[in-house]
Amino acid sequence: MMTKRTSCRLSLLTLVALLLLGACKGRIQPKMPLDSTAVNTEGVVREPHEGFELITIQDKPSRATRDLFASYPAELIDSLLPAEGIATGINCFLIANDHITVLVDAGLGSEAGGVLLEKLAALHVRPEKIDAVLLTHFHPDHIGGLLHNGGPAFPTAHIYASVPEFEAWTQGELAARNEQVMAMLSNYAERLHLFMDGDTLMDHIVAHLAPGHTPGHTLFERGDVLIVGDMFHAAPLQTACPELCARYDMDTAQAVQSRVKWTQYARQHQLTIVGMHVALPGVVQ
Ligand SMILES: [Zn+2]
Repeated sequence: MMTKRTSCRLSLLTLVALLLLGACKGRIQPKMPLDSTAVNTEGVVREPHEGFELITIQDKPSRATRDLFASYPAELIDSLLPAEGIATGINCFLIANDHITVLVDAGLGSEAGGVLLEKLAALHVRPEKIDAVLLTHFHPDHIGGLLHNGGPAFPTAHIYASVPEFEAWTQGELAARNEQVMAMLSNYAERLHLFMDGDTLMDHIVAHLAPGHTPGHTLFERGDVLIVGDMFHAAPLQTACPELCARYDMDTAQAVQSRVKWTQYARQHQLTIVGMHVALPGVVQ
């Protein structure tokens, strides 16, 4: 439980973070290119694209089981999902080229069983090498890995989140359960950037708001790839039946709208959809 004093301090930090937002925009300094000789690692998929490499890193394997869809009639879910569930996972993505190394979401964090840091080490990517971390949203399996041993896991990285996500967790009704979010924000307060729908963030990466899973849930488009965050929790079911919402979707009507809209968009623009809870290689078929 947060004491009143802690809560006040955190609110102040929020304010400080907000004030710093404008000041630190565009301060990313590119570092060394990614080591292309790094060996292939289990739980990692490297895929070359024009102008960048997409590296899918499985932070932790997982399964989608029927309790994910507990609000639907059991017969319906039984007819769609095998009793043992289907393989999913918790993924993070690296967008890397000679200029920049960008991590999209940071997974659970080591204390919660995430192995992102080990996988990065196997790829010869030191934490200092991460220039930016783009956040699809503020759930613990996406921001947990930003902290390590009580401090920032990526000591020089700039953190990017959408304005609506930031506001929802710092001012909205979610603010009551935002202890982990505030710890994350206060550790990165000087390097936090907020973006709006349609903003180009860096290296041709465009942010698209796709609310529903959370108020400011965001997708990131780079070249022929669309990273869709938590738009899918059981992709084979939800591509066939986009109306199905996992119990983690906060606004189900919006989540369905976003799922339909952005699946169509990806089809129209011939983009490969990859997701945070899609079994490796992380691609939505
Ligand atoms: Zn998630």
